[in-house]
Amino acid sequence: MKITIIGTGYVGLVTGACLAELGNDVFCLDVDQRKIDILNNGGIPIHEPGLEEVVARNRAAGRLRFSTDVAASVAHGDIQFIAVGTPPDEDGSADLQYVLAAARNIGQHMNGFKVIVDKSTVPVGTADRVSAAIRAELEARGADAEFSVVSNPEFLKEGAAVEDFMRPDRIVIGCDDTAQGQKAHALMHKLYLPFNRNHERTYWMDVRSAEFTKYAANAMLATRISFMNELANLADHVGADIEAVRHGIGSDPRIGHSFLYAGCGYGGSCFPKDVQALERTAQGHDLNLLILQAVEAVNEQQKQVLGKKILKRFGNDLSGRHFAVWGLAFKPNTDDMRAASSRVLLAELLRHGATVAVYDPVAIEEAKRVLALDFVDTPELLQKIRYAANPMDALDKADALAIVTEWKAFRSPDFDQVKLSLKQPVIFDGRNLFEPSVMTEIGVEYHGIGRSVLTRK
Ligand code: NAD
Repeated sequence: MKITIIGTGYVGLVTGACLAELGNDVFCLDVDQRKIDILNNGGIPIHEPGLEEVVARNRAAGRLRFSTDVAASVAHGDIQFIAVGTPPDEDGSADLQYVLAAARNIGQHMNGFKVIVDKSTVPVGTADRVSAAIRAELEARGADAEFSVVSNPEFLKEGAAVEDFMRPDRIVIGCDDTAQGQKAHALMHKLYLPFNRNHERTYWMDVRSAEFTKYAANAMLATRISFMNELANLADHVGADIEAVRHGIGSDPRIGHSFLYAGCGYGGSCFPKDVQALERTAQGHDLNLLILQAVEAVNEQQKQVLGKKILKRFGNDLSGRHFAVWGLAFKPNTDDMRAASSRVLLAELLRHGATVAVYDPVAIEEAKRVLALDFVDTPELLQKIRYAANPMDALDKADALAIVTEWKAFRSPDFDQVKLSLKQPVIFDGRNLFEPSVMTEIGVEYHGIGRSVLTRK
């Protein structure tokens, strides 16, 4: 089938590459010439396991093209996926300017029937706005082409995006029940057929419910994290171990083991903005989503938890102190730094006078770019960050190590070496990677999240 992907970012590139892998003829559009050039030169603008091979294979086979040519992109695909960003607006609601710009482009150039698929995460009712934008452009040029707007939110996880896209738990598709909607249904059914060979994974529903499902899923996941973080902080006070509690509750099938890890807060491009956007949608209807307000507030606090623990241990004046930080990306297997907890910790340490040495297996370049923006008003603080070549290098003469991202490479370090490199063996573990009892045994002063009962003397 002929497919166009508008927006060649994390979601668009993975969607385009994976649909090409299944034999479709895919045209990926982006407004970012730099990104398109990288891709056309055989490179890859993001770190995502397995993606480079899929892109290379399908480019070579002539099934995957990258371009900034809007007219050609509209002419190409019978199905036009909109996968552009939907960042938070100033008030936290989803900024739809890129989605609507993509819709207008389609309206300006389309001739025959098109299925327009909202793959970006967009608030309930966006499909109607996309339809209106396309219709306005068609009317402006006196054209009369039929189309249908479908909602097909994406559930892939960065770091496992190719695997998630190729083997989805579920595919959510919302179509309307007009004649055009039925035509769109038939095309979407055909496109996703290869994913349903083993068993049916598609949930067909109305457009608004599909739009809502994506927000509901992310809000639920964020809620589980904030819930566990809040309990972890309480566990520290009452002398309980949050990891034991996690196992204890997770064994109940109604609760389940997934997504119950306490840590130093969630980040990334999705949870923070989607929780906020859902709250703003509710406020637009004079409703307050009290649970989600708390989820967001707890997360803001939790991102500060490592900084607070460090200040409690070393005092408010950190001048002359030096810290190692392992992990910058918001989660492992990605270089994405959007809303990463590491940014909050670094700001806290530097503002209190410390110097830091940071290490991340893939996010260093992205970190340099993002931190330059974070510290644009205080460039002198940026000079206090050293980018280390490997985890052990970061530890050199540090007063303590703080772990922010649970990369696999950090799970079993050579602790003799860690102790030798650090000025003193102190670890603040924002992802509960290590066993407190083992740390005590080997003489490491260990600060986890919700686990202090196991290290109390
Ligand atoms: P991204 O920022 O990585 O990519 C968006 C791309 O769209 C950019 O390359 C940008 O240059 C391009 N773009 C903007 N306007 C354009 C236009 N008019 N025409 C063509 N290209 C344009 O964003 P992302 O992380 O891929 O997210 C895209 C959407 O998918 C968001 O709504 C996000 O919430 C959602 N989503 C993201 C993830 C994730 O893990 N990143 C998962 C599920 C859903």
